[in-house]
Amino acid sequence: MRVLLLGGGGREHALALALADDPSVEALIAAPGNPGIAAVAQLRAVDPVDPVAVAGLAVEVGADLVVIGPEAPLVAGVADAVRAKGIAVFGPSAEAARLEGSKTFAKEVMTAAGVPTARAYPCTDEASTAAALDRFDPPYVVKNDGLAAGKGVVVTDDRAAAEAHARECGRVVIEEYLAGPEVSLFVVTDGETAVPLLPAQDFKRVGDGDSGPNTGGMGAYAPLPWAPPDLVDEVMRDVVHPTLAEMRRRGTPFSGLLYVGLAITADGPRVIEFNARFGDPETQVVLALLETPLGGLLHAAATGTLADHPPLRWRTGAAVTVVVAAEGYPAGPRTGDVITGGEQPGVIHAGTARRTADGALLSAGGRVLCGTATGPDLAAARDAVYQVVRGIELPGSHYRRDIAATAIDGRITLPG
Ligand code: AMP
Repeated sequence: MRVLLLGGGGREHALALALADDPSVEALIAAPGNPGIAAVAQLRAVDPVDPVAVAGLAVEVGADLVVIGPEAPLVAGVADAVRAKGIAVFGPSAEAARLEGSKTFAKEVMTAAGVPTARAYPCTDEASTAAALDRFDPPYVVKNDGLAAGKGVVVTDDRAAAEAHARECGRVVIEEYLAGPEVSLFVVTDGETAVPLLPAQDFKRVGDGDSGPNTGGMGAYAPLPWAPPDLVDEVMRDVVHPTLAEMRRRGTPFSGLLYVGLAITADGPRVIEFNARFGDPETQVVLALLETPLGGLLHAAATGTLADHPPLRWRTGAAVTVVVAAEGYPAGPRTGDVITGGEQPGVIHAGTARRTADGALLSAGGRVLCGTATGPDLAAARDAVYQVVRGIELPGSHYRRDIAATAIDGRITLPG
């Protein structure tokens, strides 16, 4: 199988490593890729958000499968353009990707499907914003109603800050605060059959102890020792299958990766959000533990044959990933610094580039690299990943020191 992978972040590097490991993948091409992905794939400088250019590239390289990493190409209709050429795509249509692209649409689908989620009110002006905020106690949750790469949410006790965020965004959804630990569940689906991957937890805030602003994600671990044993079955029954059925009923079946972001509240799991693609950096830990070849799994989802795919196999043990971010991230990351230690095993490239003059590895984004490691248990995986991260040198960079710490110490408790 010849696979074309779109994107160039840490998630795509993790996908590339897993795809390159699959014996059925005979060629891997990435657009645009990154210096880490370049070690396992042939890179093509094609804009992944341009449907015509991507469809042309898929034909040119003879792709049997196109795997779409980020959200922007999905919303731009890249999956539709590639499918129109008769090529299998792992990733939803633009219509179905609205589950991520529009918070209002996602709420409509959840309401129609009876999916447990936070009560929410769409707001477009100051009056509706004020009325919605009046309905809730702090903390207030104000979400940008558009694609914001996971960074469009403000959770705050400060009503003025909530109002200011609503003003800045224009269209927002204001919703009930869900208290409880968060879980990311990835589900591979062909629209009908759905296969859950291992639940993971990510760390959205920039600082230790969940302090500071939200980011794209600063680390992750799996599995979750504290999760209720029936969590995945419950979410598949109450969330995933009803949502997929509602999408089919609307004539816009969802195939690809349904990312269910949940809070485990006193009343049970509640959906915080859907995404239409793998999450970053949870992908790094989930794929580090997946033993089943990834290419075959994604191809089955892309061709409507997931019902015939064998059950997934998982490695025993645990995985932890820690993101090394550039100075100033998330507010204003500095780029263009030389990185050393970026080629060690266990280092995933997220925002890196090669300097043309001498091939030096440079920072080129907010989240620059991440260390990923596995071990017989979470504590061992955590020790191993910090060993990797300490070997990375990037001036001014920062990383969280507490990834997976509360899970290891047994300090995560379920409410109620
Ligand atoms: P989202 O972009 O919807 O994933 O939101 C980013 C982060 O904001 C989530 O991972 C949560 O930490 C937080 N968040 C979003 N919605 C809620 C909510 N209704 N209650 C509590 N926290 C939330």
